[in-house]
Amino acid sequence: MVKETIRVYARVKPLGRQQQAGIYSVDDNEKSLSSLEIIVPRDLADGFVNNKRESYKFKFQKIFDQEAKQDVVFDSIAKPVAECVLAGYNGTIFAYGQTGSGKTFTITGGAERYSDRGIIPRTLSYIFDQLQKDSSKVYTTHVSYLEIYNECGYDLLDPRHEASGLEDLPKVTIMEDPDQNIHLKNLSLQQATNEEEALNLLFLGDTNRMIAETPMNQASTRSHCIFTIHISSKEPGSATVQHSKLHLVDLAGSERVAKTGVGGHLLTEAKYINLSLHYLEQVIIALAEKKRSHIPYRNSMMTSVLRDSLGGNCLTTMIATLSIDKRNIDESIATCRFAQRVALIKNEAVLNEEIDPRLMIVQLKKEIQELKDELALVTGKQRTSELSQEELLRLDELLETFLEDNDPDSTLDVGADMRKIKYCFIHVKQLMNHSKISDKKLLSQYIPEEKETNKQTGEELKKLKELLQQRDNEINILVNMLKKEKKKAQDALFQLNAASACSTVFEQSPSINLEESQSPSSCFSLKEAKDFSSSVHRLPFLSRKTGGKMSLGCQEAFEVFKQDHADSITIEDNKQLLKQKFAEAKCLGEKLNEVRIKINHLKGEITQRHVQRAALAVSSPSEELNTLDPVEEKLRTQIEEEKKSYKAMFNRVKGLKIEIEHLQLLIKKVKMKLQKDFEVWWSEETINLQQEKPEMVSSPNTMTVYPQFIKSSQHLSTNRTPPSSSTSIPLTGDSQADADILAFIKARQNILQKKGLGNK
Ligand code: ADP
Ligand code: MG
Repeated sequence: MVKETIRVYARVKPLGRQQQAGIYSVDDNEKSLSSLEIIVPRDLADGFVNNKRESYKFKFQKIFDQEAKQDVVFDSIAKPVAECVLAGYNGTIFAYGQTGSGKTFTITGGAERYSDRGIIPRTLSYIFDQLQKDSSKVYTTHVSYLEIYNECGYDLLDPRHEASGLEDLPKVTIMEDPDQNIHLKNLSLQQATNEEEALNLLFLGDTNRMIAETPMNQASTRSHCIFTIHISSKEPGSATVQHSKLHLVDLAGSERVAKTGVGGHLLTEAKYINLSLHYLEQVIIALAEKKRSHIPYRNSMMTSVLRDSLGGNCLTTMIATLSIDKRNIDESIATCRFAQRVALIKNEAVLNEEIDPRLMIVQLKKEIQELKDELALVTGKQRTSELSQEELLRLDELLETFLEDNDPDSTLDVGADMRKIKYCFIHVKQLMNHSKISDKKLLSQYIPEEKETNKQTGEELKKLKELLQQRDNEINILVNMLKKEKKKAQDALFQLNAASACSTVFEQSPSINLEESQSPSSCFSLKEAKDFSSSVHRLPFLSRKTGGKMSLGCQEAFEVFKQDHADSITIEDNKQLLKQKFAEAKCLGEKLNEVRIKINHLKGEITQRHVQRAALAVSSPSEELNTLDPVEEKLRTQIEEEKKSYKAMFNRVKGLKIEIEHLQLLIKKVKMKLQKDFEVWWSEETINLQQEKPEMVSSPNTMTVYPQFIKSSQHLSTNRTPPSSSTSIPLTGDSQADADILAFIKARQNILQKKGLGNK
C-alpha cells in the first residue's frame, strides 16, 4: 500500500510577446518543494479596496516554467505515475486551469509538432514500450475516452458513426454497486494491443470531441475529458490477475464569474462557470478537512468518476496550468489556491489483485491431472474417479467384517486410496443415520406427538403411571402365585417319582428287565407338571381381551368367583381324587421297588449257589454238577412268584396312570369352564357398573347397592351354576347362601374401591 498526498505541479504557459516582467517569480528548489510567487502589479492592486497584499506565494512539487518542454513534463510528472500503473496501482493525472492556460496542450499535446505530443501519447508510447520489454507477464490493454458535458457522459470512442454533435455519441451513465464501486454503463473499452492502435483510438476520440463541439456548447472549454488506459496483467500459470487504470484528465476551464459591482472582492467571491468544478472544489475541501466523514462525490458525474482518484485507492497528480498575464492574474491565483488545497489530500493506493476463478479452475484441473499422472506412475495403475464394481463389493465385505468384529483392536484397512476411505465413511454415516432413524421411530411409539397439547401429554403420562402401578401390583400377585404353584408342582412331582419307575418297567418289556429299570425315567415329566401348574391360574380370556393386562381388581374378583363357583368343588373333588391316586401310585411304586430288590436278592442267592457248587465239584469230583439243586429250584420258584406280584402291581400302576391323566384333563376342562364363566360374569358386571347411576355406586357400604348386586347375581345364577350350593340367591335366611352373597358383596366393594369408584 502506498500512502501519499496528491502531487501538485504547476506549468506556466508561454506568453510570447505579451510577456510582462515581474508578474511572477519561480523559486526552484531541487531538494524540496518549489515556490511560485505571484506579484500583483501596483496599478492592479490599487484597484482593490483595502488590499494590502502585493504578492502571493504558492508551494508546488515542481514548477514548469514557460520554456519547459513536453518531454520534460512527461518525464517528471507522468512517467512515475505510469510506472506505478504498470506495477498494478491506479493512477490519475489531471490538468486544472482556466481556459487557454494549456491543459489540453499538456494532456494531449499540440497539433503542430511531433515534439508537442502531450502526456497521453507519450504515456501510451512509454507503457507499450515497457510491456514489450517485460516478458514475465501477460498484459492486456484497453482504452476508454469519456467526455462529460453538462452532467452527461459521452463515449468518445464509439466507432459506429461519425458524430456531428455530442448528442450523436452514446450516452454514458453511472451505476453504483452495493460496495459503492462506480461502473460506467455504455462506455466502450477498446482493446489496444500496441501503441499504434492506442494512438488511433486517441485520435478517434479527439476527432469526435472536436466535431461534436459547436460554438454553442463550447465543449472544449466546458467539458471534462477522461482518457483511461486499463491494464491487466498476470504471470503465466498464475490465477492472480492485477488490474490497474490510469486516468488522464483534461478538466473544463476553471474560470470564474465575478460578482460584479460589489466593490471588487474579485479574488474571494468569484464562482465557477462550470458547476461540476464547484462540486470538485467541495470534494477537495471536504477531503482536506480530516474530520469530515461525508465526501460529496455524488454531486456531479465528474467527481463520481474520479472518486477513487480523489481520496481513494489511487496515486494522483495534479497539474495546475497557469497563464500568468495581467488579465489572468486573479484566475492564476485561484488556480494556485485550489492546488494548495488539493496538495493536502492523502490517498491510499493499493495493489489491485484478484483471483480469476476461470484461471483458478484451469490451474486446478491441470494440477489434478498432474497428480493423477504421478499417482499412476507410483501405483502402476491408471486411477479413475469411480471405484469399480469389484472394488465396491470387496469394500462392502471388508466393512461388514469390520463392523461385526467385536474385538476393539480390530482395524479396517482399505489401503491408501482416498476414494475407498471416502466410500467407507459414507457407508458408516448411512448406517448411523439409519440407526438414528429407527431409534427415533422406537421413541416415537412411546412419546406422544409434539402436535398434541401439553394437557394431553399430561393426561397420557398420568395414565401410563397408573398402568405402571397396576402392572407392578399384578406382577407381585403373579410372583406369589407362581411360588405357590411351584411348590404344588414339586409336591406332585415327588409323589409321581415312585410311580414313574414302575411305568418305565411296564413300558419297556413285559418280561421285565430289572437291571435297566433301575434307572427310571419319569412317565410324568417335569414339563407336564409345569404345564399343569401354569394352567391353574391362567386367565386366557383376560390376556386375550386386554392384551395381557390383568388388573388387580379383576384378579381379586376371579379369586372370589372361583372360591364360590360350583365347579370349584368339582375341581377340589377331582384334586382330592388325584391326590389319592397319586398316593396309591406312590405306594405301589414303593412296593414295586421292594419286589425288585427282593427279586435281585434271590438272583444273587442263585449265583452264590452256583459258585458254591462249582467249588464243591473241584474239592470232591464225585459230586455231580449236572444234578438238580433243590435249593436253587426253590429260589427260582420264589422269583417267579415275586415276578407275578410285580406284574400285577405294575398293571395297577398302569391303570392309575391312565386315571391320573384323565383326572388332570378333567380338572383342566373345569378350570377353563370356570374362567369362561368368570369372563361372562365380569363383562356383565362391567356393563352394569357403567349403567349404574353414580349415586348408586357412590356408597357401596349402604344397602342401596345390594339390589343391584343381587340382580346381577340372579342373572348370573340363571345362566350359570350358582356361586354356592344354595338354590336361591336373594337373602333367604339360609345362612350358607347369605354368607355367599355377603362374600360377593365384599369382593365387589373391594373391586370398586380398587378401581377408585368406591369413594367418589
Ligand atoms: P486549454 O486546454 O487549457 O484551454 P490549450 O491547451 O488549448 O488550453 O492552449 C491554448 C493554446 O496555447 C493552444 O494553441 C496551445 O497550443 C497553446 N499552448 C498552451 N500551452 C503551451 C505550451 N506550453 N507551449 C506552447 N504552446 C502552448
Ligand atoms: Mg482545452
